[in-house]
Amino acid sequence: MTPPTAQLESRITPQLDELVAVRRDLHAHPQTCYEETYASELIQRELTALDIPFVAPLAETGVVAWITPTDPDAAAKPAAALRADIDALPITEQNDIPHKSVYPGFMHACGHDGHTTSLLGAARVLNQLRDTLPQPVKLIFQPAEEGGAGADRLINAGALTDAVGPHAADRIFGLHNWPNLPIGQVATRPGPLLAATDTPHITLTGPGGHAAFPHTTADPIVAASQIVTALQSVISRRVSPTAPAVLSITTFHGGEADNVIPDRVTLTGTLRTVDRLTRNDIITHAQNTAEQIATAAGCRCDFKIEPGYPVTENDPALTTHVTQLAAGLLGAENVITLPDPVMGGEDFAYYGSHVPATFLFVGSESPGNTPAHALHTPHFDFNDRILPTCIQLMCRFALSPYDPT
Ligand SMILES: [Zn+2]
Ligand SMILES: [Zn+2]
Repeated sequence: MTPPTAQLESRITPQLDELVAVRRDLHAHPQTCYEETYASELIQRELTALDIPFVAPLAETGVVAWITPTDPDAAAKPAAALRADIDALPITEQNDIPHKSVYPGFMHACGHDGHTTSLLGAARVLNQLRDTLPQPVKLIFQPAEEGGAGADRLINAGALTDAVGPHAADRIFGLHNWPNLPIGQVATRPGPLLAATDTPHITLTGPGGHAAFPHTTADPIVAASQIVTALQSVISRRVSPTAPAVLSITTFHGGEADNVIPDRVTLTGTLRTVDRLTRNDIITHAQNTAEQIATAAGCRCDFKIEPGYPVTENDPALTTHVTQLAAGLLGAENVITLPDPVMGGEDFAYYGSHVPATFLFVGSESPGNTPAHALHTPHFDFNDRILPTCIQLMCRFALSPYDPT
């Protein structure tokens, strides 16, 4: 019997013109953080046209759909889940393209319009292949990846369980377009792939005063400057050189007048780590460093960590499974195993604490793509040329039996 994956190209190609139009429609209508009503309604219309059952809205604008195999034995198995994020960013688009954002101040600068379209493309194809599905498929269209932890809210709403639809999922696959990698290649790694993100908030208070009489003040500006510099040594001197970690102070606010030493300075930044022990170590040392410098300067220090996304941890067996599927599509030489984690963050991380999960970068670099077209920049646009690869990868994940034992 011909494996169902052999039929994929001939089923995807005829859909591409329509799917590119869908992608560009989504690109033109970007919304952020639980306000993605345009995308949510478009997804629901597409699913309704395909006669695919779904629940919506979940977690404000999320949509969870499912495709049940015709074979009752396959239908009784746990589902394989596919995830796409649907949200955009608060960036003003500077592209001069017909599908430029019509919502001022917002744009799809991370390519989630392409991820959503890929999952809609996979839905079209998998719905045609219900008689060859080895298990049900759950299609998760998730809001608020960019800072809103939409994955967490969708999971809490039951997206992975049979509280939403008849099938509980026992594994999940997600992908991200990756402009730093050539088209035709994919990259991932088992274990930690993307970092945990935390936000430090440091507030220094102490007597301010006349700038000409600094000895009568505690000068939080000088103390905060010393803290910024000293925090760099926490990474270089308190963490193993082989443990990936980043601590960047990115905002520094204090003072209003040239001749006044302020009585308050606030610092914020980002902490990126890939294991819990290193994370806790850095937080302890950073807090001690900030507090002791503040004390020496006569200031009070309020040190808080606002937790962000956990580490995106790739299940090793499931990652091997997906890299084999990708190698079957692209050739083993085009499946890159990254030597190190990437220090960006992803809320796909939340899925991995409930079911085995794996996340993959899909190369989207093409001639003319320069660093100015990087993710989260005003000149970014999802590269439609990778839609067939993204759809193939999602379909192969859903169509290939998986048994980790
Ligand atoms: Zn992003
Ligand atoms: Zn993204």
